[in-house]
Amino acid sequence: MVSPKYSLVVPVYNEEKNILELYRRVSAVGEQLDGAIELIFVNDGSRDRTLQIVRDLHQNDPRVSYLSLARNFGHQIAVTAGLNFARGEVAIVMDADLQDPPELIVEMVSKWQNGFQVVYAQRTQRQKESWFKRGTAYIFYRLLQHLADVDIPTDTGDFCLIDRQVLDILNAMPERNRYMRGLRAWIGFRQTSVQFDRPPRFAGKVNYTFGKSLALALNGLVSFSKVPLRLSTYVGLFAAAIAVLMALLVLYWRLFVPQSPLTGFTMILVAIFFLGAVQLVSIGILGEYVGRIYEEVKGRPIYTLAEVGGFSSHADFKQKLGSRGEES
Ligand code: UDP
Ligand code: MG
Repeated sequence: MVSPKYSLVVPVYNEEKNILELYRRVSAVGEQLDGAIELIFVNDGSRDRTLQIVRDLHQNDPRVSYLSLARNFGHQIAVTAGLNFARGEVAIVMDADLQDPPELIVEMVSKWQNGFQVVYAQRTQRQKESWFKRGTAYIFYRLLQHLADVDIPTDTGDFCLIDRQVLDILNAMPERNRYMRGLRAWIGFRQTSVQFDRPPRFAGKVNYTFGKSLALALNGLVSFSKVPLRLSTYVGLFAAAIAVLMALLVLYWRLFVPQSPLTGFTMILVAIFFLGAVQLVSIGILGEYVGRIYEEVKGRPIYTLAEVGGFSSHADFKQKLGSRGEES
C-alpha cells in the first residue's frame, strides 16, 4: 500500500447500520482528494456486527484498517487509539453515524493546504436533536468557554483535521482523561474552523446517554479549569463575612437592646445546614480533582487492544505501544 496522505479515524460503537454508508461516502470524497486515504476504524467494544463488517471491509479494500479495543473504553479513548496509529500527513477524526458529513473534508483539506494546522468543524445548527440536548449543550459550551484556561471554541465536537506536527504532540500527551477538543485547543498552532449544519444520525441510536454526556462535560471542566476549586474559597470567604457580621450584631444586641431579638433554633439550623452543604460540595469538588490525580498516577495504559488489522507488521504495532509504555 502506498503510504497514505490522509488518515480518517472513525470510532465505532454498535454502528452496524452506518458503516457501509459511511464507507461509500468516504470513498467518494477520497476521489476528490489529491492523495491516498486510509480509513481506520476503531471498534470500541461493540456488541453487534460492527467488528465483522469492518473486518470484511479490510479484506476487500487495503485502504481500510482497524483496531479493536478489548472492551468499551468510550469515544474519546477510541479516538485516541485511532490517532496513535494514523500514518498520514494529516488525520481527520469523524463520527461513524454521518452526523459529521464526509463531504466537509474537502473544505477542511483546502484550509490545511492554506497553512492551517488544525481545522475543526463548528456546528451552526443541530437538526432533530431534542431541545434538552441542545439546551444543555448550549449552556455547557458557554460555561466551559468562560471557565477554561484555554480558549475552547463553542459548538465544536471532535470532527476535525489535525496536521502531523500537532498530531505527534497530541499522541505524546500522556494524560488519561482525554477531553480531545480541549487538548486540541491547548496545543495551539494555527487553527481555524469550517461551519456546517449538523444532520441527524443516519441510522441506529445515540450512544451518548445523558450520563455519558455529563461525564464528558465534567471531564472537560475539571481538566481545563481550576475555577471550581476556587469556588469553595469564595464561598468560604462569603460565609466568614456573614459570621463576622452576625457576631457584631449579637454583640450589639447584648449591649444595647434589653429585649434581645435573637431568634432561636431556626437561625442555628439554617446556619448548620448552609455550612454543611458548603463543606460537602467543596469536598465533592476536591474529590473530582483528587480522583483524576489518582487515575493519572496509576499510569495504566489508556486502552487495551484485542485485535488489529491492516497495520503492516506486528512489530511496528508493538513498538508503537512500547513507545507509549503500554502493553496490549
Ligand atoms: N462511540 C464510541 N464509543 C462509545 C460511544 C460512542 O466509539 O462508547 C462513537 C460512536 O460510534 C460514534 C461517535 O462515537 O461514531 C459519536 O457517538 P454518538 O453518535 O452516539 O454521539 P453524538 O452524536 O451524540 O455525539
Ligand atoms: Mg452521533
